[in-house]
Amino acid sequence: MNRQTIIGLGNWVSVPITVLALAFGFLVEAEAQRSQPQVQAFTITILSTMVVGDTNGIGEWGFAALIDVNGHKILVDTGAHPDTVIKNAHDLHVDLSGVQELILTHNHWDHVSGVLTLRRELMKENPDALSVIHVSDGIFSRRPSESGDRNQMIALRKEYEGTGGRFVVHSSSAELIPGVWFTGPVPRIYPEHNWTSSGKVLTASGLMEDNIPEDSSIVLNSSKGLVIITGCGHAGIVNIAAYAEKHFGNRPIYGIVGGLHLFASTDEVVDWTASKLREFRTANLLAAHCTGVEATFRLREDLGLSRQTAVIATVGSSFSLASGIEVGPLAK
Ligand SMILES: [Zn+2]
Ligand SMILES: [Zn+2]
Repeated sequence: MNRQTIIGLGNWVSVPITVLALAFGFLVEAEAQRSQPQVQAFTITILSTMVVGDTNGIGEWGFAALIDVNGHKILVDTGAHPDTVIKNAHDLHVDLSGVQELILTHNHWDHVSGVLTLRRELMKENPDALSVIHVSDGIFSRRPSESGDRNQMIALRKEYEGTGGRFVVHSSSAELIPGVWFTGPVPRIYPEHNWTSSGKVLTASGLMEDNIPEDSSIVLNSSKGLVIITGCGHAGIVNIAAYAEKHFGNRPIYGIVGGLHLFASTDEVVDWTASKLREFRTANLLAAHCTGVEATFRLREDLGLSRQTAVIATVGSSFSLASGIEVGPLAK
């Protein structure tokens, strides 16, 4: 048998093996999708962002949202001022006293400043209210600056734990309840730069540019597709979407809710972001906080979305499986 024949035989053998491997891969992925639990109903309500539609609401540079999955409620972030979320929730008739868990997406002040006010106020009605906070590794890292440490989380940790509260620190992703996935630190496979390059963070390798390594998001696995909730999206919304796709398989993105930190990005960056989000078949965008007005309109155009499906979030606006995006009582 000459060399040509051997190579030829190898090719004949490899074709069915390749076909089998591909078929097996599809089966594994299909099985993975089938075995992932889905949420049957959800509503996400914005409790802190810049825009309000009524004199009762407080707008601020900040973010907070309440996730309600089949009646199980989880608060995400707590706004920039100590009392914004408690006041907005009151005005919106949103009862937070039954909410036991809080997720802090990252250490920034515009997401964590309401923690102690909320915990102390809500404890009066329910000692378990906000008694557990999910965070990612790195949120307590020192952020030294000339005016002292910029990381409020270091002091906040002691005070919060003093109330009997407990932090759960995640170094990787975790399913918090069936169909609700906390990303933990997000792999940065695309070179998105959605943060301000002014801070430093102390890591095991020394003082580094602070790219907010702990930045985490939440992903709901709904019957219509994935729903991503971001605080500031410092990890990059495309990185977050790619990580969610890796976990859940090739499912469309039914919605993105929260801050994407594109307010200062160039048109080219926004266009690139949109081109990738198109690949993920993004159907809705409730753009809050640091997404930016211009970036939101550009994303709407680029993604082929409409005034109903790509909307600037207001305090009280919501996104649900049943109704999609709704502007909420404060914006009417
Ligand atoms: Zn931030
Ligand atoms: Zn922010």
